[in-house]
Amino acid sequence: MLRIGLTGGMGAGKSTVARTLVELGAVLIDSDAIAREVVAPGTPGLAALVEAFGPDILAADGSLNRPALAAVAFADDESRGTLNAITHPLVGARTAELIGDAPADAVVVQDVPLLVENGLAPLMQLVLVVGADVETRLRRLVDQRGVDEADARARIAAQATDDQRHAVADVWLDNNGAPGIVEAQVRALWEQRLVPFEHNLRTGVRATADYRLVPADPDWAVQARRIIARLHLVCGASAVRIDHVGSTAVPGLPAKDIIDIQVTVADLGAADALAGALAAAGFPAAPAVTHDNPKPTPGDPAGTDLARWGKRLHGNADPARPANIHLRVQDSPGQRFAIDLRDWLRAEEGARTEYLAVKRAAEQAAGGSAEAAGEAYYAVKEPWFDTVYPVVTEWARARA
Ligand code: ADP
Repeated sequence: MLRIGLTGGMGAGKSTVARTLVELGAVLIDSDAIAREVVAPGTPGLAALVEAFGPDILAADGSLNRPALAAVAFADDESRGTLNAITHPLVGARTAELIGDAPADAVVVQDVPLLVENGLAPLMQLVLVVGADVETRLRRLVDQRGVDEADARARIAAQATDDQRHAVADVWLDNNGAPGIVEAQVRALWEQRLVPFEHNLRTGVRATADYRLVPADPDWAVQARRIIARLHLVCGASAVRIDHVGSTAVPGLPAKDIIDIQVTVADLGAADALAGALAAAGFPAAPAVTHDNPKPTPGDPAGTDLARWGKRLHGNADPARPANIHLRVQDSPGQRFAIDLRDWLRAEEGARTEYLAVKRAAEQAAGGSAEAAGEAYYAVKEPWFDTVYPVVTEWARARA
């Protein structure tokens, strides 16, 4: 099962996108509909609201009079807290129930209007944002949905900004054009990304990238932040720290299109204990990898002991975003090297130039594809790592 969060400003076209996803086979969980359902006439939710706010919040037919409720419940923070304490657990329980009822291979889409405002993005395995210019949205709300213009403007102004939405968007669907345009985008997304993502997630398959270098992408840092936010949620206190490492963490450096993230843990037992939760969250394990290549430490023959270089590796099930999630032990040589190498490359232009030349040579060596290419690639790169390891370590020590 894949869990997608769908959001966007009022009038952007969430309902339109949700409808297309349902046509394609997604299971839609509509937060607004659930919020209405849990306080429908005859529900314990409505009884609890009457108990808290009095019978004046009811309409003549016994249903909830929303403006009347809003008048009392939004009067002060305490009342707002009371309202949330009643409705949030009910919405949460009903949402969990609906997700539980969905088939194991479902693509579940949660339409959450305030996903950004309420900081819910990291809970989703993929966030889809539907975007349209404010004026376009206003025109649609006023002309097609009959909303009062001043009211629509005020509500749009109270919502998250497009910049805030961009920061959490794994996918941004532009809906400024005719309805057919966004529909075609949704169909392509379904086939090329959502269906394979769900399959990878359920079967523990990691997305891969080839050994070609691509130009540095300023969006890598933003993408890494989203992955890190999700990892923090999965790992909780077991993660001592989580860092964007590797070439994609060095601004301006061409790299393979794989984002490296390092989760620092207290020991490998903690890493193993996280394996199941990581896989369930969309970060399947690479069980064959148990350690980094040991790098020789001058003057320390025991420096290459495999035991010091133990790690766990996970990937990302999202086919459009290959990632390596390295779980390394705090203060182990591999954990420190990942951070020190990144900082050294960020700081030293000469080091970047040298590393890029090595990467280009490795890319040349890899030439073809598949596993053999990987070996050829690393046969060129690893000796250079061995050479710079003491240099980087000394550089970091001098700076500390
Ligand atoms: P949301 O659910 O994000 O508030 P809707 O999907 O209800 O937005 O869209 C708002 C209004 O705009 C609806 O009346 C819808 O039919 C219309 N609409 C959606 N997409 C387009 C589009 N690309 N062109 C024109 N009208 C659109």
